[in-house]
Amino acid sequence: MQIKITPTQDSRLGSIDFNDLPFGQICSDHMLVMDYEDGMWQSPEIKEIASFDIHPANLALHYGQSIFEGMKAAKDTEGNPMLFRVDQHAKRINASARRMCMPEIPEDLFCNAIHALVDLDRGWIPPGEGSSLYIRPFMFATDEFIGVRPSHNYRFVIFTCPVGPYYSKAVSLIAEDTFVRATPGGVGEAKTSGNYAASLFPAQRANAKGYDQVMWMDPYEFKYIQEVGTMNIFFVMNDKIYTPKLNGAILKGITRDSVIEILKSQGNKVIEKPLSIKKVIKAYNKGELQEVFGSGTAAVISPVYKVAARGIEMTLDPDSYKIAPYLKAQIEGIRKGTIEDTFGWTEKVKESAAVAV
Ligand code: PMP
Repeated sequence: MQIKITPTQDSRLGSIDFNDLPFGQICSDHMLVMDYEDGMWQSPEIKEIASFDIHPANLALHYGQSIFEGMKAAKDTEGNPMLFRVDQHAKRINASARRMCMPEIPEDLFCNAIHALVDLDRGWIPPGEGSSLYIRPFMFATDEFIGVRPSHNYRFVIFTCPVGPYYSKAVSLIAEDTFVRATPGGVGEAKTSGNYAASLFPAQRANAKGYDQVMWMDPYEFKYIQEVGTMNIFFVMNDKIYTPKLNGAILKGITRDSVIEILKSQGNKVIEKPLSIKKVIKAYNKGELQEVFGSGTAAVISPVYKVAARGIEMTLDPDSYKIAPYLKAQIEGIRKGTIEDTFGWTEKVKESAAVAV
C-alpha cells in the first residue's frame, strides 16, 4: 500500500514560536488518515490537518470504541529526527484494538505511517533541549448506528504536536480509597478513551484536597498499588527498586519497560510484585523509603515528593534522589543519541522516498 501524500500549500510553521509551546495545543501541518472499510484497511493519505464531520449516531461517541497511543520524536545531535520504540507502540495499539473489538493495524503499516508523517513534518520537531514532537496515533469507530455492537468501519489517524521541555517538577499523590481505575479482566490494560474519562472525577477530588494526582489502588481491598495518572510507578525502599507487577489492570508502560531494562543492564533488578501500601508505609516509618517516581512518555521520569495514604502523609526529598534523575538522563540521552543505544530502541526517520507501505 502506498501512502498518498498531499503536502499543504499553506504551512503554519513560520508562525510558530518554538520557545513557547504549551503541551498539546499546537498541531503541526499534516495528519495521516486511513479508513477501515469493507473489512480492510484502505489506502492511507497524508494531508493538511483538518476537522472531521461526525454524524450524531457515530458509534464511538456513544459506546466508546476509541483507542490511542502517545509517543515522541526528537532530533539527534546531527539534526536527524529519531523515533523511540515505535514497534512497541504498534504492538500496544494492536493489543488495545483486540480488547476493544477493533481491527489491528499491520505493524509495518503503523511504523511506516509514523515515519512518513514525521518525515514530512520534520521541520516541526522543536530544536530546544528537552523539546520533542509528540505523536498521537488513534483509532475510532465510524459506523453511524445506535445499538451496542462493534463497528464495521473505523478511522485511524496520526497527528503530531510540537511540545516544549516538560519540566517534570515533583508531584504529590493521594492513594484513592473510593474509586477504581481498572480491575483485572476490565480494560485497564487497553489505552482506550473511557479509562481516561473515568479518571477525571477522582483526579478532580484529589486536586481539591491539594494533591497533584491519584495513586490508583486495587479494586477489591484498596491495598495494592496500581499506577498513577498517566504514569507507572516505582519505589526505592532499602536500596531495592520495586514496581507493581502487571496484572491486566495496569497499563503496560513502554517507559516502565525501558526503566526495567536500563536498570537490569546495570545489574540492578527491579522487583515486580503486587506492592502493598502497607509495605511502603512500613518502609517510610523505618526511614527506608528513599525514592518514589513515575514513568511515562510525557514526563519520562517524574519524581514524587509526597504520598498520602491511610491517613498519613509521607514526605520525600526529590533533591536527594539518585535513581530517578539517572534514569531520566539515560532515557533522554538514548532518545536524542547522546547516549549510545545498546538496546536497539531508536531509529532514524526514513526519508519519504524510502518509505514504502
Ligand atoms: N499509565 C497510563 C494510564 C498511561 O496513560 C500512560 C501513558 N501512556 C502510562 C501509564 C505510561 O505509559 P508509557 O510509558 O508507554 O507512556
